[in-house]
Amino acid sequence: TNPSAPTFSTDFTGFVHVRGAREHNLKNVEVDIPRDALVVFTGVSGSGKSSLAFGTLYAEAQRRYLESVSPYARRLFHQMAVPEVDSIEGLPPAVALQQQRGTPTTRSSVGSVTTLSNLVRMLYSRAGDYPVGQSIVYAEGFSPNTPEGACPTCHGLGRIYEVTEQSMVPDPSLTIRERAIAAWPQAWGGQNQRDILVTMGYNVDIPWRDLPQKDRDWILFTEDQPVVPVYPGYSPEETQRALKRKEPPNYMGTFTSAKRHVLHTFANTQSPLMKKRALQYMLSTECPTCHGKRLRPESLAVKFAGLDIADLSGLPLKRVAALLKPYADSTTTGRKKHDAERPEQAIVAQRIAADLCARLSVLLDLGLGYLSLERSTPTLSPGELQRLRLATQLYSNLFGVVYVLDEPSAGLHPSDTEALLSALASLKQAGNSLFVVEHNLDVIRQADWLVDVGPAAGEQGGKILYSGPPSGLAEVPASQTRRFLFGQEGEERDARTPRKPSGWLRLQGVTRNNLQQLDVEFPLGVFTTVTGVSGSGKSSLVSQVLVELVAEHLGQEVTAEQEEGDPLEQSAPLELGGQIVSGLEYIKRLVRVDQKPIGRTPRSNMATYTGLFDHVRKLFAATPAARKRRYDAGRFSFNVAKGRCENCQGEGFVMVELLFLPSVYAPCPVCHGARYNAKTLEITYRDKNIAEVLGLTVDAAWEFFDEEPTVQRALTVLREVGLGYLRLGQPATELSGGEAQRIKLATELQRAQRGNSLYVLDEPTTGLHPSDVEKLLVQLDGLVEAGNTVIVVEHDMRVVANSDWVMDIGPGAGDEGGRVVAAGTPAQIIKAKESRTAPYLARFMK
Ligand code: ADP
Ligand code: ADP
Ligand code: ZN
Ligand code: ZN
Repeated sequence: TNPSAPTFSTDFTGFVHVRGAREHNLKNVEVDIPRDALVVFTGVSGSGKSSLAFGTLYAEAQRRYLESVSPYARRLFHQMAVPEVDSIEGLPPAVALQQQRGTPTTRSSVGSVTTLSNLVRMLYSRAGDYPVGQSIVYAEGFSPNTPEGACPTCHGLGRIYEVTEQSMVPDPSLTIRERAIAAWPQAWGGQNQRDILVTMGYNVDIPWRDLPQKDRDWILFTEDQPVVPVYPGYSPEETQRALKRKEPPNYMGTFTSAKRHVLHTFANTQSPLMKKRALQYMLSTECPTCHGKRLRPESLAVKFAGLDIADLSGLPLKRVAALLKPYADSTTTGRKKHDAERPEQAIVAQRIAADLCARLSVLLDLGLGYLSLERSTPTLSPGELQRLRLATQLYSNLFGVVYVLDEPSAGLHPSDTEALLSALASLKQAGNSLFVVEHNLDVIRQADWLVDVGPAAGEQGGKILYSGPPSGLAEVPASQTRRFLFGQEGEERDARTPRKPSGWLRLQGVTRNNLQQLDVEFPLGVFTTVTGVSGSGKSSLVSQVLVELVAEHLGQEVTAEQEEGDPLEQSAPLELGGQIVSGLEYIKRLVRVDQKPIGRTPRSNMATYTGLFDHVRKLFAATPAARKRRYDAGRFSFNVAKGRCENCQGEGFVMVELLFLPSVYAPCPVCHGARYNAKTLEITYRDKNIAEVLGLTVDAAWEFFDEEPTVQRALTVLREVGLGYLRLGQPATELSGGEAQRIKLATELQRAQRGNSLYVLDEPTTGLHPSDVEKLLVQLDGLVEAGNTVIVVEHDMRVVANSDWVMDIGPGAGDEGGRVVAAGTPAQIIKAKESRTAPYLARFMK
């Protein structure tokens, strides 16, 4: 059957015709997709939806657009690879609103992403209230990132960094020899400074606090850098004797005070780790001039509605909208005398306020009213960021374009999804096409047209199972989506009895973001879901405070999340804000399973991350041929010089610099992508060389290694989480967030289970098809059965209905949330009157 039967074409204005699409796993796909419609791409995770929507349609639209711009401008774009496709006809220009995972590189805020900040600065500049006699401040003067706006004392940072005796000498009962001066370099550098002090006659063997203040100040703060003879290994007495005898020194050493060392390191090091170490010995205090507001005094003196621009930028958008409304509605400020004196001010205020209000209402509709303009984008979830950018598009009045979106419902509570749908509807009404990759059934049901990709993932996917109006999918048995779209909700759910908690983890006084002095208890030994509208405080409670408190008690490093980026960005250290009062004795280990990439370079892949590759390399090293040549396991690593291809250093690819175009990656001409040198590839295990083994899918490898229980065990778990289609050597950079998450989960599952671990997951169903969600549930269940505790922040009611305990946070977002609205078994939650989750959960509890 032709999946895109032309019988429907009368309902649509026109079609995009795709012929011969072969990007990634797509199987020479032929499909017609209507324009000016809401088209949803469905299919199991890894089936090829993104390869079609982003990798093919969007990439081609971008390629065509870029052909029309100058080569110079082209370099400024993040250009996608030219898609593998024979032809695409009828394709309008496209705008992609993709989820950005990982840390965005640029410094930006809600205000800058939405461009609202520009308008607000204009409002203050042109319609603000100035102190008498002060001349006008231009719009740039209201930005801390410009020389015109930055506070002169702190240069726009809002904080001042300084070192004190206390910050550099945390324990004054130690002697200098015992490293009282913690801020000095470690290892040799610190010893060198100590030996210099010995030469200079300072006592390095009495407690720091017993040294005269004058000496302490000099050692810590002097700008002098005396150069003196150094006799390492001599006692202070021997040193003095050597000096007297004018014995030739080992070397001449230069003294550097601790302050000089810290500030120099902080200002000059390229290493984030060194920077962080330096920051440890610095105190940051609020800037006394701007009090953290980052702007110069003249700018802060300008008020609108009684607030300076920093105050306004800190308010939730909802409050900003309410505050501007009266100005937008009227050309008077209500102050008669004032209006008579400055009529133009009232008119300008009205114009800008009206524009701002219109833009803000879009953001409020999308459920983002709890954000503030100053909120920095790295602290937003990918879903929030995508909705911000969507709102910006809604206001940009483009028409005739295709918006390509990636799971816009991610992070949205079912009650927020309706607003999203109406935003999509307005884009469509304005004359645009919407191509959306989505798993959420509420969104799928609203589609004008469905493109179902499958039937399975990877090699077993990449075909168009169906393309047409949603109702027609009911006739396609091969579709995994069909079962969920047309099955009765809750139908396949066995009435399950929730497990009983084995204990409770009690937290007191939890304070973070919108949570204030909250007391909560999490049941142990069961599966708990934490629900609530977007912005209600779920992540603040679970992913932040709970994780940090437990990690601190266990002496585990607080997760890598805060390690990245510029330490200055995290200037004001967060208080832990709460304590654990009981239940910790049941938790021996904390594990976070998130969707962050498992590695940022093609050097890491699934096989290396899971530890599977170590076993495989040992098998190769144990073959007779390898033993004869004395090849050890390291020989079979593409990260080690002896075995890898030297031309590409084991990458398999080389970068080709093109003059006017972005550089491209091409397969290495020496190893042709194998990553190893010829000698290494001569060694085979069961007739495959190491590169061929890395090219196997998990499913194929599972059969190939049927005599190796350790390797097979790891592969079995990967199959169980639904990753049988991935190749062992698939670079980390090609994996989706959902795939990365499942690899982490599989790595955990293959560990010997001792129980008593706490697993914390934040929206693990993002990017997962309902049939993948079922697989995930089985895995989480397995963890709980093995005696562990699982706590999950989740919006998918199917998952919530299958949990043992629900904690509903809310009732609203921001300062209208932050409380525990209801806690109990799913059956108890659906009776909670105040809970916004209850009605949606009830649909799954029949
Ligand atoms: P979906 O969007 O349906 O989850 P994708 O289109 O992302 O699926 O992936 C389809 C297949 O293509 C998967 O097997 C995936 O591992 C593979 N794939 C995705 N991105 C890349 C890439 N950059 N290079 C090679 N293979 C890829
Ligand atoms: P949820 O996880 O329920 O969506 P969050 O815990 O992310 O909610 O957010 C709760 C509130 O705290 C919101 O008002 C949000 O804007 C605010 N918030 C969250 N993270 C930060 C942060 N890093 N800085 C400032 N405010 C934040
Ligand atoms: Zn300042
Ligand atoms: Zn090579």
